[in-house]
Amino acid sequence: MNQSKIHNFLIQNVSTLNGVGIKTKKLLKKKKIEKISDLLWNLPQDFVDRSNVQTLDKLEIGKITTIKVKVIKYNFPRIRNLPNKVICGDKTGKIDIIFFNCREGYIRKILPLNSLVIISGKINCYKKKYQITNPSYVVPIDKENYVNKIIPKYSLTEGLTEKIYRKLIDQVLKNITDIPEWHNNDVLKKIGNVSWLESIFYIHNNKENDLNSKFYKRLAYDEILANLLVLSQVRKRVKKFKKKIKVFDNRLSKKIISNFSFSLTSDQTKVIEEINKDLKSDFKMFRILQGDVGSGKTIVSFIAASNVIRSNWQVALMAPTEILAKQHYNLATKIFKSTDVTIKFLSGKSDLKEKKLIQENLINGKINFLIGTHALFQKNILFKNLGLIIIDEQHKFGVKQRIELSNKGGKECDILLMSATPIPRTLVLAIYGDMDISKLKEKPMHRKDIITLSKPEEKIDEILFFIKKQIKNGNQIFWICPLIEESKKLDYSAAVKKYNQLSKIFTKKVGIIHGGLEKDEKNKVLNNFLCKSINILVSTTVIEVGIDFPNANLIVIENSNKFGLSQLHQLRGRVGRGTVQGTCILLYKKNLSDNAKKRIKILKSSNDGFFIAEQDMKLRGFGDVLGYQQSGIKDFKLADPIQHEDLFKIAEQNIKDIEYDETNFKKYDFLLKLFDKVDIINQIN
Ligand code: ADP
Ligand code: MG
Repeated sequence: MNQSKIHNFLIQNVSTLNGVGIKTKKLLKKKKIEKISDLLWNLPQDFVDRSNVQTLDKLEIGKITTIKVKVIKYNFPRIRNLPNKVICGDKTGKIDIIFFNCREGYIRKILPLNSLVIISGKINCYKKKYQITNPSYVVPIDKENYVNKIIPKYSLTEGLTEKIYRKLIDQVLKNITDIPEWHNNDVLKKIGNVSWLESIFYIHNNKENDLNSKFYKRLAYDEILANLLVLSQVRKRVKKFKKKIKVFDNRLSKKIISNFSFSLTSDQTKVIEEINKDLKSDFKMFRILQGDVGSGKTIVSFIAASNVIRSNWQVALMAPTEILAKQHYNLATKIFKSTDVTIKFLSGKSDLKEKKLIQENLINGKINFLIGTHALFQKNILFKNLGLIIIDEQHKFGVKQRIELSNKGGKECDILLMSATPIPRTLVLAIYGDMDISKLKEKPMHRKDIITLSKPEEKIDEILFFIKKQIKNGNQIFWICPLIEESKKLDYSAAVKKYNQLSKIFTKKVGIIHGGLEKDEKNKVLNNFLCKSINILVSTTVIEVGIDFPNANLIVIENSNKFGLSQLHQLRGRVGRGTVQGTCILLYKKNLSDNAKKRIKILKSSNDGFFIAEQDMKLRGFGDVLGYQQSGIKDFKLADPIQHEDLFKIAEQNIKDIEYDETNFKKYDFLLKLFDKVDIINQIN
């Protein structure tokens, strides 16, 4: 078969394979297997060694064993619920083969009296006799090869047996032969010098197989490169758009900078310059601003906004939550005060009248700057001339959503994403390879590292004492209650309970906020906290992202071992934003696991979000790390950023070489198709 034929075969629906009827198709779909190639990516998780053929005197209970025996006698009881039994034997002994729920006729067919058969299954013992119950394989002696070997075990779903799956895999493997290599020799040598086909065959047929075998690594490398290729292509296409350059002087931005009570850090200045260069160029900006919590991303984006507004374009800023959006709005109104910039707030909860007015004034261009939640991008929200979209805390965006966003803004619209999720270096290109990257490494000058302590819950009295002192000094405190269960209701109730407890001790000084509150109530509580009429804010993790309370300097995190490292770091970043020293207290229940102890130790030792993210990835495996789940990085089916760091590095160099000469891309067409990436690239318009 040539490449395109093989490809056509691989992208066909599984139902074109022999043996896939409606039922199997449904079961496969449950495992997200729809196309034939999906079958191949579902790699075996484990193996059963059926090459272990034993005579009946050497059986071991509990072991999966293959035996060669003669069928001696049937025992089919006529009583319901009793299993059918077939007695078999070899020169050395006898064994009972037991069948539950299996018809007599079928048993007679697969185990004809006096015939020699191969049976494979787990050996157990009943009333001092060896037996195999519902054997996995029963085959005539002439088909010995079929069972006498290592059988891969896949992660499957109920109703879909290993046997069916194996047959499908064999069918697919038989159909793919002779695929031309897409990597050049140099790269091939670095990754183990095995072909894709060899690797697929090996992985689906062998026992010795781990993430670091050259066969697995070959497949993982293909996956990594396919991802980089897509991002590289996306980037190229976005860059091809010619937009009108934005023309502005620095009068407006200077004015708003002068409204700050501080001066910009040199990183902030540098990033602003990077952004300005993009705005003034004739290609579309597609940029991500990465910066740890508290590094001062928001004002950078406001300055960008001011420049775009100054050049007579509109700006939209979207935040992930209502509270955060509102806070941005409030800050923007403050720092754009005494300018002629018109700023409006829009969320799903805005009332109809307000919404209508906003719609009108967006179309006629009276609104310069719209801030809100994802409601900004509803179909009926139309701009006169949108020139910049800013997305805050975008770690929930994968490449697909970024493309959608770019399309939504249109050709003239620049895009700035902001993220506080620190990405381990290995992954930066694999996650953001489609974008230009700006970084805020330096924290604002006055910002001190947050002191992090841990305390068992029994010592809560010490903490309450500490809180009293803090309140006396006019400081404010967050008290975080974690998710108790998956259920949000329980989550709220834990927070409410804590609120009641603390209210008894600190009368009229405590407020509570959680996802179950109405908007008005939420705002009231937040305002009370902002204007210091309460000192303690009990909260679920709703305050996790972005919110800025410069006066809060203590955060207590209950049951802290329930949170991931990166999440704790984000939470901790809520305090110490003003000039007072910030403190974070991690409360824990007795008997911490080793892993939990390690996490607490890491947090105590470092305030560096980047370091913490890497440690987090190492401790938990990258798949579970907060923020990566929806970042698109989960798209990796095979590659593992921890195990395959070397492969990521090779791919980084490889993609540079490929980009150097555009004609190179063609070679990887098949690879992109294999990984289902072609559609993504074509979505850009
Ligand atoms: P993040 O990067 O987490 O979004 P913010 O933009 O919310 O950070 O900024 C955190 C706090 O630091 C805010 O109160 C902001 O006003 C303040 N800030 C930002 N830049 C500076 C600076 N250069 N000097 C001092 N404070 C700053
Ligand atoms: Mg922020």
